[in-house]
Amino acid sequence: YDYGMQLAKRGYVAICPDCRGFGERRDEALQKGTDEKSFLTSTCFHLAHMAEPLGETVAGMCTWDASRLIDYVYERGEWDTEDLGVMGFSGGGMQTLWVSALDDRVKKCIISGYLYGYRDALLLLNGNCSCNYVPHLWEHFDMGDIASLIAPRPLAVQSCRDDHLNGPRGLVNVTEQMDIVQKAYSLYGKEEYPLHDVREGDHCWHEEVLDIALPRL
Ligand SMILES: [Zn+2]
Repeated sequence: YDYGMQLAKRGYVAICPDCRGFGERRDEALQKGTDEKSFLTSTCFHLAHMAEPLGETVAGMCTWDASRLIDYVYERGEWDTEDLGVMGFSGGGMQTLWVSALDDRVKKCIISGYLYGYRDALLLLNGNCSCNYVPHLWEHFDMGDIASLIAPRPLAVQSCRDDHLNGPRGLVNVTEQMDIVQKAYSLYGKEEYPLHDVREGDHCWHEEVLDIALPRL
């Protein structure tokens, strides 16, 4: 997916960082020589295995990294930080969720393929990558509660109807969380958010959200 390119074509400065465990930040031990396939796979699962016994999480590390990237954007001082947005799909959606919730410098965001209830999507489905998990988090908060911290800043969420990661109840596990987020926006009188772009298909990115959401964020 070239959504960084798509944003640049729409006039944005798009920064596409390598997340820990991906690209140049992969674990060397899992690279089989010059095998191209292993260049394209991630090693976040292995990062998470080392992080958890140390009391760390990959989600936390990635959020920290994203905030440092925003520091860099501010230090450059040449771009409009009043219009600073974050977007991502799947694991990128996870990072978007966390950094937008925790860093007020994010002024707007698009989360694609990553907003659903923890119980169905991350406990009943236990085949997800370990980088999603924060110990004991689900006992206190759900994903909708975390996304509520983004209010009243403009937020768009994209979901696919048959995304297997939504869990066994499908889109219901998404709309329940969206209802939680909607209530938080209502407290601010911002009923127009969050935008929810529902598409057909399994776990995939749909570029149309850029045309639909960007003019309204
Ligand atoms: Zn992962």
